[in-house]
Amino acid sequence: MPDSKNFDVAVIGGGIVGVATAMALLEKPGRSVAVIEAEPRLAAHQTGNNSGVIHSGLYYKPGSLKARNCTEGREAMYRFCAEHGLAHERCGKIVVATSQEEIPVLNRLEERGRANGIGGIQRLTPEDIREHEPHVTGVAGLLVPATGIVDYTEVTETFARIVREGGGEIRTSARVTVVRREAGGLVLETGQGLVKARNLVNCAGLQSDRIARLCGVNPGVKIVPFRGEYYELAPEKHSLVRNLVYPVPDPQFPFLGVHFTRMIKGGVEAGPNAVLAFKREGYKKTSFSLRDTFETFTYPGALRLFAKHWRMGLGEFHRSFSKKAFVRALQKLMPEIRMDDLKPGGAGVRAQAIGPDGAPIDDFKIVEAERMIHVLNAPSPAATASISIGQSIAAMAEKNFQLG
Ligand SMILES: Cc1cc2nc3c(=O)[nH]c(=O)nc-3n(C[C@H](O)[C@H](O)[C@H](O)COP(=O)(O)OP(=O)(O)OC[C@H]3O[C@@H](n4cnc5c(N)ncnc54)[C@H](O)[C@@H]3O)c2cc1C
Repeated sequence: MPDSKNFDVAVIGGGIVGVATAMALLEKPGRSVAVIEAEPRLAAHQTGNNSGVIHSGLYYKPGSLKARNCTEGREAMYRFCAEHGLAHERCGKIVVATSQEEIPVLNRLEERGRANGIGGIQRLTPEDIREHEPHVTGVAGLLVPATGIVDYTEVTETFARIVREGGGEIRTSARVTVVRREAGGLVLETGQGLVKARNLVNCAGLQSDRIARLCGVNPGVKIVPFRGEYYELAPEKHSLVRNLVYPVPDPQFPFLGVHFTRMIKGGVEAGPNAVLAFKREGYKKTSFSLRDTFETFTYPGALRLFAKHWRMGLGEFHRSFSKKAFVRALQKLMPEIRMDDLKPGGAGVRAQAIGPDGAPIDDFKIVEAERMIHVLNAPSPAATASISIGQSIAAMAEKNFQLG
């Protein structure tokens, strides 16, 4: 039996996007909202295993959802952290070209950054690079002062507190397994019983395409998981990195390349790489799910992607299993770094939507259906942009769900 409550909106997924959406929906009083999360705690997947960077918006096509939401969301994130006393730092980052061939891409990044209205971007000479990061070598660079660091688990927990204070409910250990349409609404079968809601928002990250299908909606894309593995700098080597140091990314891929990130809680991470994962929520090299692997390798879009980029894919696998190869990638930025300076760190798995043509979906993808909104691609910088994405979804919901 469903409990007696019939929520205006059930949000599936207690990652940062789901909880930000619930928070935005509750900005108008009188609404009943529940967040339904599969795991015993919030932020258990992408949100709790990411790099903790507040992105500036440098990489995204001007006018795209990513560019707009990142620019707005970044400033909203800084304001939110300041208001709620959450540790954060607008420390800036540098992007470093290590060869002349990378200069055209660096130029394009600089143009994009300016087109996206990011203030304070500066071109760096090799000497300037050394001044900012004494152990980093490059032929040219960009300084991006708008970038910062934060702990997104802490941010999500604070969003959740606001949701509860606004009368919202957060139900954990409640994996949604079935969604049924009934007269006047929806019934969700969860690990904690039935939940009735008039409308739903799917923010299920790595499972978002499956939840769409469960709801009878064709997502038009498949989530292909890419694991990102980190190393940590040994404590006595933390001084090698002052802030954040990024390479020039390969424009063909939606990932940024292994970088050095100072963490808000202390320590420095190096990574993440981007290895095809054989399990959507698998954080170890040995993690394997027959269902997930079968789905990936029978999806024509994934096969097209692998056929086109097999060389890059093999390189990532090599770097995953060979610390030497990983260190070699880092040495391009920091020639003096050595194997012994790094110890294995954690990992995160990215939910990357891939189209049937094999192209990674570059922008955020949000699909509406009757009584439903499905967030089908919310990769980086969705944590940075979460407040803005939540507000956009709440505005969509107001129309689609005819919320008061
Ligand atoms: C390695 C890595 C590094 C990154 N670095 C950055 C960064 O520095 N800055 C940045 O802005 N972004 C970064 N990102 C991206 C960012 O983490 C994600 O864009 C963001 O966390 C997406 O949030 P989400 O809420 O959509 O997904 P998630 O955090 O994955 O949340 C989805 C939730 O849905 C739940 N769920 C799934 N299925 C069900 C179900 N059936 N029933 C109920 N609940 C369900 C899951 O348990 C999960 O908690 C990074 C991502 C990765 C993986």
